[in-house]
Amino acid sequence: MSEPSPLEKEIRRLIAVSGPMPIARYMSLCLTHPKYGYYITRDPFGADGDFTTSPEISQTFGELLGLWALSVWRMLGEPEPVQLIELGPGRGTMMRDALRAAKVLPKFRDALSVQMVEISPTLERLQRENLKDFDVPIRWHRDLESVPEGPSIILANEYVDALPVHQVVKQSDGWHERVVGLNANGDFALGLAPDPLPRFERFMPKKIKDAPVGAIFEWRNDIFAFDIARRVRNTGAALLIDYGHIESDLGETLQAVNAHNFSDPLLAPGMADITAHVDFAAFGEAAAAIGAAIHGPVTQARFLRELGIDARGDALRRGATDEQAANITKGIERLTEAGKTGMGELFKVLAISDPKLDTLPGFAPA
Ligand code: SAH
Repeated sequence: MSEPSPLEKEIRRLIAVSGPMPIARYMSLCLTHPKYGYYITRDPFGADGDFTTSPEISQTFGELLGLWALSVWRMLGEPEPVQLIELGPGRGTMMRDALRAAKVLPKFRDALSVQMVEISPTLERLQRENLKDFDVPIRWHRDLESVPEGPSIILANEYVDALPVHQVVKQSDGWHERVVGLNANGDFALGLAPDPLPRFERFMPKKIKDAPVGAIFEWRNDIFAFDIARRVRNTGAALLIDYGHIESDLGETLQAVNAHNFSDPLLAPGMADITAHVDFAAFGEAAAAIGAAIHGPVTQARFLRELGIDARGDALRRGATDEQAANITKGIERLTEAGKTGMGELFKVLAISDPKLDTLPGFAPA
């Protein structure tokens, strides 16, 4: 057997000291441990990486989000200055495409200050490189808390799915937290906390309350939704795009992905991306509870079509070679692909805003 990685040793040490840990804690160590976390140590995107994302598939994605931000800024009454905040910007590709598109309105570009929230120094370096040619002020932060207050438009693609998720399992005496511990062979193994979570069902939808013994439910801390809602409810809007479900539901979606394949989240911690679907209903309810307005969720296909992805594709193809044109078409097809596993349907878009804003672009009733 090979020598365990430094992160594996660290997790074993933590379990030895304090006992099995919630999956949420395990996930957060795997992804964002300050030295050995998955995102901290590498660039996971692209064909050679572990997975790919919408902005890496088609430039139209970032461009349309840039134009979305511009329209929302106008609806907000053109506040100056306005912050364009991106959460988890990856390689910086989406912001680059968004800023290029936003140039169509110099007034908007001049009002902008860009705030990048990125926990990974490795990815921050890539983002700086990718954005060096834009003459708008851009600053980097390790968390949303350090971004100044003020009118803000927030964009986040595939960010929430990387936030730690808790799993609970229904037993006859209530819901028990799922934990990561060690089995008799000394390997990482899933278990249940001995005591049920006190009054866990109190705020849960009926479907969850009525779940049979053995059912699994995933949930995230509401704090993140509160943070976003607090920032945008007074002059602002946020756009969250992620794979997930429109209504809270039972079942487990925690998954690890490595070199474009699924792997076991308990094997090789820190070497694979670990994510779980976003419960958009829970997110929206939390944001609404503190006074923000909710738009959607709608499917990514519907959202991008309403923003004009097909027309954007036509325009791009006009100046392109045959090969480029084919790639543009392929990219757009992938982003809007129907079917359970197609990105157009699996991915949902939710906006959270200042309640004085009317229907936002992309969210017109069907
Ligand atoms: N939005 C990008 C990247 C998605 S991957 C794209 O669509 O291509 C998730 C991104 O969130 C990475 O940039 C990762 O480093 C960052 N990230 C993950 N957890 C984070 C956290 N807790 N705080 C800040 N950034 C985080």
